[in-house]
Amino acid sequence: MRRILLSAAVLVAIVPASRGREPFFPPSPPLRGRGEQERPVLEVGFGETDITPAVGKEPVYLAGFGQNRKATKVHDPLFARAVVLREGKRKIALASVDLVGFFRTNVVKVRKRLPGFDYVLVSSTHNHEGPDTLGLWGPSPFVSGIDEGYLKTVEQQIVKAIEQADAKAVPATARLGSARAPDLLHDGREPYIKHDELVAVHFRQTKGEKPVGIVVQWNCHPETLGGKNTEISADFAGVTVKYLQDKHRCPVVYLTGTVGGLMTSLHVPVKNKDGKLLSEETWEKTERYGILIGEVAERALKSARPVRLTPLRAHTREVFVPLDNKLYLLGRQLGVLKRDAYLWKGDASKAEAAPAAETKKPLCMKTEIGWLSLGELDVAAIPGEIYPELVLDKVQDPPDPGADFPTAPIEPAIYKQLRGPHRMLIGLANDEIGYIIPKRQWDEKKPFCYGRKRAQYGEANSVGPEAAPLLCNAFRDLVGKAK
Ligand SMILES: [Zn+2]
Repeated sequence: MRRILLSAAVLVAIVPASRGREPFFPPSPPLRGRGEQERPVLEVGFGETDITPAVGKEPVYLAGFGQNRKATKVHDPLFARAVVLREGKRKIALASVDLVGFFRTNVVKVRKRLPGFDYVLVSSTHNHEGPDTLGLWGPSPFVSGIDEGYLKTVEQQIVKAIEQADAKAVPATARLGSARAPDLLHDGREPYIKHDELVAVHFRQTKGEKPVGIVVQWNCHPETLGGKNTEISADFAGVTVKYLQDKHRCPVVYLTGTVGGLMTSLHVPVKNKDGKLLSEETWEKTERYGILIGEVAERALKSARPVRLTPLRAHTREVFVPLDNKLYLLGRQLGVLKRDAYLWKGDASKAEAAPAAETKKPLCMKTEIGWLSLGELDVAAIPGEIYPELVLDKVQDPPDPGADFPTAPIEPAIYKQLRGPHRMLIGLANDEIGYIIPKRQWDEKKPFCYGRKRAQYGEANSVGPEAAPLLCNAFRDLVGKAK
């Protein structure tokens, strides 16, 4: 998200050597029989539906940068993609949409239509070249850019993609690999800490090794086309998906992870095959960047090793987070930001619903965190754009003298809570509450950090300085209690 408002996923099934090529990986030995207690087999399926809005009669407001950016045509389609994991009667669905964000209110509607699932996660890639689904990018700061009819369609299409994946689920084995790509990330805010690990998981049919699909998770704002572009696109994420689909002839789910603090493809120097530097905010750079991320995924797949993903367990917790952002509060009053609010009484575990007209009392909003324990893989589900410092335990210490809350305790880091040999983070998971900033790096008041004349960008699109401590503590408790 850029200054806006009011100023503001290999689940790779390697193609067997049908065309005389050796399969990449030796077939993984059957997991059962390693003295492990008999477990129901893991079954996996993929689904995909098109969620491209129609450009024509009604204006389509593009999200992510300024207001009133109307789509002129479709460059490439937007999708809802899903993977379903099953173990006996237990079912978990992970869906990803090529959108800037998807509020929890909409996710709850999707879940209601999938009663047979133990857990349904809907994450947005945080695409900055797709329609406004949060309300912040309408014709003016006072008018929402959301097309309610379109949102309904998206909900339906997500349900369909998950049902498709469920219907296609087959017994499968899994392999997981990761690769680092620091050169393919630009961090737009001090302190410069990158979450530059890409994780890829591949599934193959237990019998016959036939492809089942790919999940890839990377940490970057899909905004390579920039804020002047008016053609609907999935940005680089669409290119990465297509690259892996073509290469492995199987479905692909792309998941956005840690994008706060500010992980972006903007200002990343990208050269074409001939070594020519490609211009910023062009399709050439976007396409090339997407292919380069595809190649990083290939590297991860090459190093992939068998991973046990059962037992499947999902743990979630609702968290009430104070709504301190004055622009968001104004947006709510103006009906631009359509979100239920609650009366904040200092308790993140419970709060009373606030009357719609409430403007005086402190308010908060309800969101959720999740921890998926998938056998040897731990997944953190975070409802917004978390800063890498909070994931990787790299919050600045001591804080910069300009920090607004220099004595704030350092938040318990997300990955530090996880015990499994493998881990992954899904951002914008089941909600989009904006930036989640370490409290001691919060910097809104003079003197500004790092001797700067102006505050760095970030706080304008965060609900407030309490979000990070409340969410990180709740995550620690959630994992701690469930163990
Ligand atoms: Zn963002």
